[in-house]
Amino acid sequence: MATFAGNRKLLAAFGSPTVQNGPSIGRFHTRTEPVLVAALAVGGLERAFHGDVRFAKGCKDKPFRLIFAFATFGHTKPPTMPTIHYSIGPDPIRPRHLKVRMEWTASGGQTTLRLPQWRPGRYEQGNFTRNLVDLQVKSPSEVSPSGAMGNTVSNAPQRLTKTTASEWVLQHEPAAHLAIEYSYFANQPDAGACWVDRELLYVNPVHCCLYIPGQEHEPCTLQVDAGAGADLRQVAIALPSKGEQCYAASSFHELVDSPFLVSSRLHEIRWSAEGINFVLWIYGAQFPEGDEGGRILQNFRAFCCEQILTMGSFPVDTFHFMLLALPFSFYHGVEHLRSTVLALGPQQHLWTSLYKELMGVASHELFHAWNIKSIRPAVLQTYRYEGLMFSELGYVYEGFTTYYGDLFLARCGVLNFEEYLDEVNAYLLRHTVNYGRYNHGLHESSVDTWVDGYSSLHSAPHRRVSIYAEGMLQALHLDLTLRHYSGNTLSLDDLMRFLWQEHCRNPKQGYREADLIAWCGRHLPGACDWTSYFQEHYAQAMSLENRLAAMVRTVGCEMILGPCEDSIKRYLGVQMLWNKGLPTVEHAVPGSPAAMAGLGPGDRWLAWQIVDHELVTSIDSGPIMLDMDTITDPGVPSDSSDIQAKARKILQEILHGAVGELYTTVEWHDANPDPSSLSVEANQALAVLHTNILGHCSIAWMKGVGGMDFYNHYKITPDQQATAEQLATRAAWMASMTR
Ligand SMILES: [Zn+2]
Repeated sequence: MATFAGNRKLLAAFGSPTVQNGPSIGRFHTRTEPVLVAALAVGGLERAFHGDVRFAKGCKDKPFRLIFAFATFGHTKPPTMPTIHYSIGPDPIRPRHLKVRMEWTASGGQTTLRLPQWRPGRYEQGNFTRNLVDLQVKSPSEVSPSGAMGNTVSNAPQRLTKTTASEWVLQHEPAAHLAIEYSYFANQPDAGACWVDRELLYVNPVHCCLYIPGQEHEPCTLQVDAGAGADLRQVAIALPSKGEQCYAASSFHELVDSPFLVSSRLHEIRWSAEGINFVLWIYGAQFPEGDEGGRILQNFRAFCCEQILTMGSFPVDTFHFMLLALPFSFYHGVEHLRSTVLALGPQQHLWTSLYKELMGVASHELFHAWNIKSIRPAVLQTYRYEGLMFSELGYVYEGFTTYYGDLFLARCGVLNFEEYLDEVNAYLLRHTVNYGRYNHGLHESSVDTWVDGYSSLHSAPHRRVSIYAEGMLQALHLDLTLRHYSGNTLSLDDLMRFLWQEHCRNPKQGYREADLIAWCGRHLPGACDWTSYFQEHYAQAMSLENRLAAMVRTVGCEMILGPCEDSIKRYLGVQMLWNKGLPTVEHAVPGSPAAMAGLGPGDRWLAWQIVDHELVTSIDSGPIMLDMDTITDPGVPSDSSDIQAKARKILQEILHGAVGELYTTVEWHDANPDPSSLSVEANQALAVLHTNILGHCSIAWMKGVGGMDFYNHYKITPDQQATAEQLATRAAWMASMTR
């Protein structure tokens, strides 16, 4: 059963976050019973810093200890000496802004400062500089008079010059102690950005912390500066504590991989699994008490155990789930080595209708602690925050992770087999409605996350695939292929363990696709030409359906083809938005009747009529140009019913005029029926008077096409006729390491 504490200090009790050495494949940790550590209430926590003095305080007492260490062992540089100190808190004069201060001791006469241009986990340009306001160099009087490490304080004029979109150069005295200060607009409550108000300070330092190029590996400290007027006492962060609301990072890389929540309304749940400490921090929702809370905790613990036992060991000794329960519909998760931020909403449904989503995203992000935070492609091995980092291997770090996120839930019993197949089928649906699978393979789609990987809203429709959905289905295919050709003695689990072992042997050496191909060839040389397999499945555009259908049969399942129930999509190949006054085209399948009739994204349907196309073959299928003025007076607001009434009259006149003497024999259907019930059969035609945003009107004349169904979808279901061998393979695929 879960218990909480209202006022809580944070995690410091959880020891140093040292990396464990190497996986212990085959040597599993002793299983431990769930331990719920009731958060201890600590009263009398003082608000650490107020107003003007906050900078001078820094991390309480630490400089003096460091100076002492340096004096004692002066011939060597203290390895933990912080070279850069950050202070982050609410900006007292700008609502929804952070105030960020940075101080350091410079070595030369000029310092380059940069703000990251992207954040690991989201492979696109972040353009965080647009949130940075009022960057100032502080005068010496505003800098700690002690000069943090005994260095001189600069008295010379300092000149700050902006050199690129995210870079500044500061001219100063050599060896000066320097400070800058700026505001950062923190108004994005998701799992990867920043938010601040009087109740919640939520920071992803990668958004808002400047860094000095070349010093990314130097240790740094972080002071959380709650300031006055805010109710911000508890801190959830994965960095070790070095004082009151002060934390140490071994490098800038670690700092920016350590998001934090500060509030007085955090709920804190702790447990252990396979010797690893886990913490669930919740903001915005109560953790259920009683049996329900116990069941939720057991589920969290179950997938944590399943993952650790499968991989053999865990990269760190403590891991934090930071859950932001939001008041609106939302689903987002971002991975870090020692933590993850999960943002879901609406908060009142968190433990009911959103529960599967919560389990899914939590399991997905936990597996990232191995797959991308530890096991990393060579080209991403050392993050460079100043530029784009392209990788073709998104199908491994996002696709395989998506596959395992749900698979672990099924193996440990959080999902039953049918529920697991529901999750797979959701990805299969995304696959089959995306005609981009005929254009770009996973390699190119992975590189193109930097183009439009997270929002295709402004991109060409049906351009590429998703490294998540497509990568997940490809992982399923590869896993079942390995199991099939090895007689169930080998699986994707083994490949992931191999990558984890290699990472532990050579932590600074990332993997390449060639390593994956070589591993497959080494273990299953006769199964297939693995180079060709990887080429076809990951480098080329392909539609996976037939190959996947063959492989799911090996685990006693069948992949059933189902027609799209929306006849407009099915026969005409067009995806509509029906709920915005006038029906609007979202996109059309290339080469479909809708596309051939010229319907493009954003085109609005003004009037439409269904006609039996066998009787109207004489209708000119070419465009009929209309002036928008004939439908509505420009500049005069009219509701859509007025426009539609005029448009319907025009359309009928055009159609009747075109049919001529056939008028009496043509079978006409209701003009402008309720769009939500509009359907067209394969032997019918739909005439649509439509306009685009430039007011260009024309007639789209579309004949339903039978036998060439669009937007069909597949569904994987258990085969009731499955053989004993197939069922045995399924059982091995779903086998839990915890039972
Ligand atoms: Zn992910």
